[in-house]
Amino acid sequence: MKPLKDLVRKGLWELSPYSTARDEFKGDASIYLDANELPYNTEWNRYPDPYQLKLREAFANYRNIDSENVFAAHGSDEVIDLLIRIFCESHTENIVGITPSYGMYKVCAEQNLVEYREALLNPAFGLNSHRINDAIDGETKLIFLCSPNNPNGNSFELSKVKAIADSFDGIVVLDEAYIDFSENKSGLSVLKKTPNLIVLQTMSKAWGLASLRIGFAFGSKEIIRLLDKQKLPYNISKAVADIAISHIQKPQLKENYVRKLIKERESLINKLNQCNDVLRIFHSDANFLLVKFKDSKEVFEKLKNQGIILRDRSKLPLCKNCLRISIGTSEENRKLISVLSL
Ligand SMILES: *Cc1c(COP(=O)(O)O)cnc(C)c1O
Repeated sequence: MKPLKDLVRKGLWELSPYSTARDEFKGDASIYLDANELPYNTEWNRYPDPYQLKLREAFANYRNIDSENVFAAHGSDEVIDLLIRIFCESHTENIVGITPSYGMYKVCAEQNLVEYREALLNPAFGLNSHRINDAIDGETKLIFLCSPNNPNGNSFELSKVKAIADSFDGIVVLDEAYIDFSENKSGLSVLKKTPNLIVLQTMSKAWGLASLRIGFAFGSKEIIRLLDKQKLPYNISKAVADIAISHIQKPQLKENYVRKLIKERESLINKLNQCNDVLRIFHSDANFLLVKFKDSKEVFEKLKNQGIILRDRSKLPLCKNCLRISIGTSEENRKLISVLSL
């Protein structure tokens, strides 16, 4: 890895961020007349903590990581955008990702006018380090990996991810949106030894809080400081942070959802295996299944006509005739199977 200072876009390292009233004074005072807030208590009249220390501490604590290594965001999508804007010069530098994978990396790169290069996975969705290496050149700043990967749900061996990071001059972003559903080791276990690794997690999936918009990035203190400098001052509202903290404080709720969902996933696999239209179900460590059908278009339409919507992934590389099915409640899965069996 190059020194972080040399990886950041020109001028950003030296930039001083907007200093909020809450930055200028830290500690407890009895009268706050510094932020042009309404003084009457509406419950929401005060600006929130720009660094969401309580939220970061709660999640860091749950994951057994120092809170100075955690950044909280308006969904992991916010972090993806921030990282591109911190590290990649428009028009000249590039990002390498795998394909098929989560679509936001490419969209976000293009929104920022940064070239996005795709390295095809192996036919069974395994990581192909040679293709990744071939896509990298001197202008590559970021590599996006996703494990368990969306849209198919398999996990990459952590040793391979680490090897890619160790041999790369830039930053590797490992998106672990679905890690809670997986038995595999999280990238957090090698974070200390891998200074150019950033791990993304979210409360949108296993925690059941997609509408709150809460995501986290884990990385070195220096990387977290860069994210803090680049973000909007109040990227998470107090109401949302409070709800998120209350969920982090009772993780059994999430753990129960995960256990229940994995049971549903296994039972859905069994039932799908008995459906005539199904050719193949790909291994999944996540809360969805990628399924190859004889004719995905016909299946998609048949289900749609009965009010059941799947995600059509058939146009993606390696995904011909494939639909992605989010695991539903047992009732929803039963209906899905009954329509598929028609
Ligand atoms: C759903 C998903 C996310 C979630 O993003 P949020 O902005 O946190 O809701 C991130 N990455 C992947 C791969 C996903 O599938």
